[in-house]
Amino acid sequence: MFRATVLTLFPEMFPGPLGLSLAGDALARHVWSLETKQIRDHGIGRHRAVDDTPAGGGPGMVMRADVLAAALDAAAPADDPRPRLLMSPRGAPLTQSRVRNLSQGPGAIILCARFEGVDERIIAARRLEEISIGDYILSGGEIAALALIDACVRLLPGVMGEKASGEEESFETGSCEHPLLEYPQYTRPRDFEGHAIPDILLSGDHAKIATWRSEKAFRLTQARRPDLLSRNKSTADN
Ligand code: SAH
Repeated sequence: MFRATVLTLFPEMFPGPLGLSLAGDALARHVWSLETKQIRDHGIGRHRAVDDTPAGGGPGMVMRADVLAAALDAAAPADDPRPRLLMSPRGAPLTQSRVRNLSQGPGAIILCARFEGVDERIIAARRLEEISIGDYILSGGEIAALALIDACVRLLPGVMGEKASGEEESFETGSCEHPLLEYPQYTRPRDFEGHAIPDILLSGDHAKIATWRSEKAFRLTQARRPDLLSRNKSTADN
């Protein structure tokens, strides 16, 4: 079973959206599990401090390595086979190929930071893998963790209604090195404000439809995300 353990100062944020719809149904059916750990339980002193001022000066607060180490060690033994992820804008950008790879594993231990982030020393000391969900700054790792878990859970066997619908998505078509964006989709009505569904999709000729779709997917990717077509395998597989 895919087991997610999330370390956070805001366990109330979970399961949140993951308690609804496909992910929520699967959670109730024990297809996957979610547990949260309150980092503050390992805080220092009467006030259970988890952060302190940055060495060298500067704005904000930094999460203490000793507190995070205690929280991580209490959450999972050293030989827990799950990868330990740190949500971080400095991390490797999350890709569908990394998501697929995580979803085929035993789950993940996910550390959500707040404030200015974590003391650098915890990353090597607990072999954390830094993962980013995009080039922008969130106020905490929780929303990033929700996004990552959601992306993994929908790929677990028995979570999505039709298995095939996961395989034609953006980033799932094309090759692993060169994923493509999805082709345009249409449904009823046949005419919407004077715009018709392309004839070929109503032709019943499945071979022609497949060709039309892959051409559209390629063109769309070329126009919007040329970086996907040129990026190298190591980036796609991180
Ligand atoms: N000072 C840090 C940003 C801290 S934001 C910097 O400039 O790199 C606070 C926390 O929110 C981060 O430590 C991380 O856990 C989370 N976070 C913010 N943006 C994120 C992103 N794009 N992807 C993943 N986690 C993010």
